[in-house]
Amino acid sequence: MFDIQAIRADFPILNEKVNGKPLVYFDNAATSQKPQVVIDAISNYYSTINANIHRGVHTLSQLATDAYEVSRHTIQKHINAAHAHEVLFTSGTTHGINLVASGFTQFLKPGNAVMVSAMEHHSNIVPWQMLCERTGADLQVIPMDENGELILPAFDSLLAEGRTKIVAVNHISNSLGTMNPVKYIIDKAHAAGAAVLIDGAQAAPHLTIDVQALDADFYAFSGHKACGPTGTGVLYGKEAWLEKLPPYQGGGEMIKEVSFEKTTYAGLPHKFEAGTPHIEGGIVLGTAIDYLNGIGMDKIAVYEHQLLVYGTQKLSEIEGIQFVGTAKEKASVISFNLQGIHPYDIGAIVDKMGIAVRTGHHCTQPVMQHFNIPGTVRASFAFYNTTEEIDALVAAVKKAQMMLG
Ligand code: PMP
Repeated sequence: MFDIQAIRADFPILNEKVNGKPLVYFDNAATSQKPQVVIDAISNYYSTINANIHRGVHTLSQLATDAYEVSRHTIQKHINAAHAHEVLFTSGTTHGINLVASGFTQFLKPGNAVMVSAMEHHSNIVPWQMLCERTGADLQVIPMDENGELILPAFDSLLAEGRTKIVAVNHISNSLGTMNPVKYIIDKAHAAGAAVLIDGAQAAPHLTIDVQALDADFYAFSGHKACGPTGTGVLYGKEAWLEKLPPYQGGGEMIKEVSFEKTTYAGLPHKFEAGTPHIEGGIVLGTAIDYLNGIGMDKIAVYEHQLLVYGTQKLSEIEGIQFVGTAKEKASVISFNLQGIHPYDIGAIVDKMGIAVRTGHHCTQPVMQHFNIPGTVRASFAFYNTTEEIDALVAAVKKAQMMLG
C-alpha cells in the first residue's frame, strides 16, 4: 500500500510556500528533499555521539565508528555487494568517478581507449578526458538516436576495435530520463576484456540496484539524490579491482605504516578513505536508505512510473511542446521545450507560481549539441510528488506560454 499523504507528511519542506504558493518540487534529479528521520538523525548524531572515527579508544569514538560501519553494511545490503569493504564512502558520484579515472592512469597507454556514451553527465566525461590526456588513450563515444537511446550496434563496433579498457555509462540519463541497457553493456564489455563503471546517480534513488546481478566493476552514486545528506556518496568496486587500484588520496586513515623511507597502505576500504570523512553524512546516508527501504524501492519505481505516464500525457496536451528524450524505457524525468520560447523564461515564470523545475543544459552539453537546442525545461518527479502537482505544472506552463508566446 503506497500512502502518498503519509509519505508527504514525512517531508517538512513540502509544507513550505514559495513566492506565496505551495511548493511544488520537481527538481529531484538535481537533489532530493529529506524526510524528518534524516533531518533528526543529523542533529541526533551531533547531540549524542559526535567524535572522530577509527582512532579513539574512548566510548564516543567507538559509538561513532560503529554507526559509520553499520551504515556501510546497510549500503552493502542495499546494493547487494558481496563485501562491506567494497563499499567506499565518497562525497558523491563525481568523487567516485574521479577516484576510478585517476586509478586507471597506470593501466592505460597510447592506443588504448576509454568509452563513454553520448548522454553522459559532465562528471562522467571530463574525468575520462583528463585520463586520456594523461595517458595518450582515446575517448570513444557510444552514439544515441533521436529518441535519446544508445545505438547498440555502434557500441558493439567500437568494442570490436579491441582497444577499450574501461566503459563508463550512466544507468539513467539525468537530462533525458533514458534507462540504459547496462546489463547488456556490462556483459559485452566484459567479453571484450573491458571493465565497466556505472554512473548510478539517477538510478539509486529510483531503482533496486544489485551490483552482483549486474556484474558491474564499479557503481557510483550520490547520497543527496536519494534522501541523504549533501556531500555523501558511494563508490562500489569489486574487491579485485579495488585491490589493484592505487590510493586516490594520501593522508591519515589510509595507511598501515608510515616512515620517510616507505609507506604501506591500509586494507580495503580504508585505503580509499583518507582523512576525517563526512562522518555524520555517512551515518545518515544509512538512515536515508533504511527510510527508502521502509517504503520499498519496487513501490517507489511503480509509483514514479505512474507519475511519468501521467505527466507525459498531460504535458503533451500543450500545443507546440517538444519532448527531449523519448526513449521506450524512461525514469520519471521529463525534459521539454516550447516552440520559440527559451527554457529559462518558462522556468522563471513557473517559479513565481511556486514550482521548482530545472532549466538549462543539466551538465550535459553534448546532449544539447546533439539535439541542437540551448537547453530544456526539466521536471523530475520523486515518490512524494502527486498528479495534482503535475496538473499545477501543466497549468503554469500554459500560462507561461500565453505570457511569452
Ligand atoms: N551523473 C549524473 C547522471 C548526475 O545526474 C549527476 C548529478 N546531477 C552526477 C553524475 C553528479 O553527481 P554529484 O554532483 O552528486 O557528484
